[in-house]
Amino acid sequence: MMFPELFSLESNKRCVVADRIINHGSGNILCWNWRSPSSDPGFVSSLQQLSSLVAEVQVSDAEDRWIWSPDPAGSFSVKSVKWCLFADVAPENRFIMEWCKWVPAKVNIHSWRMEMGKIATGVALKNWNVQLGEPLCPLCGSDDESVDHLFIACQVASVIWNSISSWCKIPNIFAFSIKDLLGIYKEIRASESKKEAVQGIILIACWSLWRARNNLVFSNIEIRIDRILSKVKALGFLSFSSRSRHKGIDWAAWSSFVNM
Ligand SMILES: [Zn+2]
Repeated sequence: MMFPELFSLESNKRCVVADRIINHGSGNILCWNWRSPSSDPGFVSSLQQLSSLVAEVQVSDAEDRWIWSPDPAGSFSVKSVKWCLFADVAPENRFIMEWCKWVPAKVNIHSWRMEMGKIATGVALKNWNVQLGEPLCPLCGSDDESVDHLFIACQVASVIWNSISSWCKIPNIFAFSIKDLLGIYKEIRASESKKEAVQGIILIACWSLWRARNNLVFSNIEIRIDRILSKVKALGFLSFSSRSRHKGIDWAAWSSFVNM
């Protein structure tokens, strides 16, 4: 593979390196077997390179064996495969979703899959070659249904984010991407407990919006933003008051979002 022009002149195409090296104790003697030796400068230069590569090769009588080169010990392991797969991926470019400790696992998993574009939106289905007509947003019909559209740009989503911002008494939730949306809680100026609450509320809102969207698509149940918001408040309260570090918060404090 390295010297195709030499290989084309080799008389025995099945020869191995050991056939071309005779070890004389003091060093290797190279014994070539060309079909027709050439004085072409390209041939001579390739031959010099090849000779210097094999000059130091030690050929033993041992049986040949496979060696897994990424591992220094030469043995194959899943760990080294993983290392090879991630070696080219710069860690700073990888988005790692912060798991919210107090929301149900299904809500975390939904956001994680949403960020990776692994939920079955119209655009995703089209990309997966599932043909269901135009991939339009079933909520507004004004654009293709991608995760960015459905959870950020869609009119329904913006009303939800506006309402949640004013309920939580934080600046308007405004994101360019799902990564932004999932990380917004870190940017707000608030106590740690409030940040923790906002993180989970955003995840629950995405999950509730997706449920409402599915109810519309599969059961023809009309989208009602007020219903989505009450669900976010109720599920949020249930989880936050029982699973977070701030157990015991009452409904009044949760609904008004003061003293958080
Ligand atoms: Zn829409």
